[in-house]
Amino acid sequence: MSRSRASLLLAALLLQSPTLAAQDTVDVLITGGRIYDGTGGAPRDGAVGIKGDRIAFVGALPRNVTAKRRIDARGHVVTPGFIDPHTHAYEGLPRLDLERRRNLSSLLQGITTVVLGADGRGPLEVKRVLDSSQTLGLGTNTYALTGFGTVRSRVMGNSSAPATPAQIEAMRTLIATAMQQGAYGVGSGLFYVPQTYATTDEVVAVVSAAKPFGGVYDTHQRDESSYSIGLFASTREAIRIGCESGLTTNIGHIKTLGVDMWGRADSVLAIMREARTRGCTVVADQYPWTASGTGLSAALMPRWAQAGGRDSLRLRAADAEQRARMLADMRENLRRRGGDSTLLLIDGDDAKAAPYIGKTLKQVAADAGQPAVETALDLVLRGIDMGVASFNMTEADIEVFMRDPYVMTSSDGSDGHPRLFATYPRKIRRYVLDRPVISMARMVESASGQVAATYGLTDRGVLRAGAYADVLVFDPQRLKEEATYTEPRKLATGMQWVFVNGTAAVADGAPTNALAGRALRKR
Ligand SMILES: [Zn+2]
Repeated sequence: MSRSRASLLLAALLLQSPTLAAQDTVDVLITGGRIYDGTGGAPRDGAVGIKGDRIAFVGALPRNVTAKRRIDARGHVVTPGFIDPHTHAYEGLPRLDLERRRNLSSLLQGITTVVLGADGRGPLEVKRVLDSSQTLGLGTNTYALTGFGTVRSRVMGNSSAPATPAQIEAMRTLIATAMQQGAYGVGSGLFYVPQTYATTDEVVAVVSAAKPFGGVYDTHQRDESSYSIGLFASTREAIRIGCESGLTTNIGHIKTLGVDMWGRADSVLAIMREARTRGCTVVADQYPWTASGTGLSAALMPRWAQAGGRDSLRLRAADAEQRARMLADMRENLRRRGGDSTLLLIDGDDAKAAPYIGKTLKQVAADAGQPAVETALDLVLRGIDMGVASFNMTEADIEVFMRDPYVMTSSDGSDGHPRLFATYPRKIRRYVLDRPVISMARMVESASGQVAATYGLTDRGVLRAGAYADVLVFDPQRLKEEATYTEPRKLATGMQWVFVNGTAAVADGAPTNALAGRALRKR
């Protein structure tokens, strides 16, 4: 062996166990487990030591090590805590109640870090939100994206007009301030009103204010289907916005939505690959469900009808000609999604929604004795804009996306949809164990190390000495999704140990109610 090769090896060894001699006492010693370290490499058997909030060592068990707590992980895997890059878990922070802040729906899936600010609705006062959530306490770590939608609403309200140069300047200032305060990027939801009224150029002009800070442009893109500009043009638009803004583009919850796009996952991935050859950094995240979750009006109402808000919508609906046009557009949107039996009403804020929960639009329309779209329009006009599970994806496309090395795992967890409680156990069960669509090493990487690397979450998402001790111990065969579309709020079972910053948040299968999460800030 050459001398330089030997010294490289020595350096590598030292990196793996920086101060072992001084660390012969650890707080937690996990032995006998199969270690997936989050980098996608082959698993290995070995020990993991935790001292304070950090990982002390990974691999060979140091001699003479003593531990305050020993965990026998034989028959279990040991992995980094999962990082969920598309969630609605902490929307409304810091006003959330204790139950929401504990975030057991995430912890019992093995998620130790969740993003705050998906779909362009992230906070502007990033520092205030992170400071106060830290004071209140969180069950999981959180990191924030600021939001194009929040910025546009702040400056322009619900306006469908193009932004003036002065308005663009005002929006840029807000973005830059939020980035300065520790946001990891900018989110958008160009599918949604009022963000959808922004042109590509406007979004680039605003989002590029984040350029000096770097980070991620994360988007619920303008069209995941054939609604407006179409999925392919929309994917190109998303990449252009991210690339011209000097940011990594992340296509949130990548999918082919609706009958017109089924079978086209390959073409979407090809657009992303082509962009990489031009030097753009492009990734995506995905949830493993054939139903998306959205609002009844977002799913069916044409955007022109929504401009100005609900009062304007009511005025339009009272006009016979506009009403007819609206219903025609809604019929077409319903066809795209797969028809009235594919929309399941799952969630609503007030008592008026209760009678409809758990029914398909087809059933509600039959009860009302009128066509589906008229029933939906009535609900929206009465202010009952319910959450829907929209069964609009195919297993085949889900698997094509999942196999791509640039597609990460996310939950998009939202009330009423079982993905909030069950995404990660489901993906492991269905796509790693039952059918080997991806390997366990790839599953873990897509849910931890790759997310940390994409967002720049330093010292997270990997098992290595010196990294923060966000660590899971579980038996994959016993990890189970319990939530279903009809009972979406059932906690996952089988997660044995979850450490968040070295503190046990789940101990021997039971939540400890520790609030060990931290508010992470980009430096
Ligand atoms: Zn979304």
